[in-house]
Amino acid sequence: MPFKCCVTGCRGNYDKEHKVKLFRLPNKNRNPQERERWIRSIPRENIPNSLNTFICENHWSVNYETCQIYSKNRPLNPPTIFICVFQSQVPTPPLTKRTTTKSLPSTL
Ligand SMILES: [Zn+2]
Repeated sequence: MPFKCCVTGCRGNYDKEHKVKLFRLPNKNRNPQERERWIRSIPRENIPNSLNTFICENHWSVNYETCQIYSKNRPLNPPTIFICVFQSQVPTPPLTKRTTTKSLPSTL
């Protein structure tokens, strides 16, 4: 099963067609302070206290700084971009009509 982004409302990596890089949250044993920093920057309660908690690349600006940790590139700073969260707080207008002309066969 593919890992998914832990940010509420984020569809990062949910879709096979739109692969995004996922980063594991900093390790709570090796790097508890850094993990705390990341968790505090994520607008979500009850972030799973698991080793397999991931966050996707969409939460960093395009040219984010990276560092090498255990021979893997990781963002240097905690995530900062949570567009999906803010959008979900905005009430969405009801869908009126579809733009596609494809319709159900009515009379045959
Ligand atoms: Zn995400």
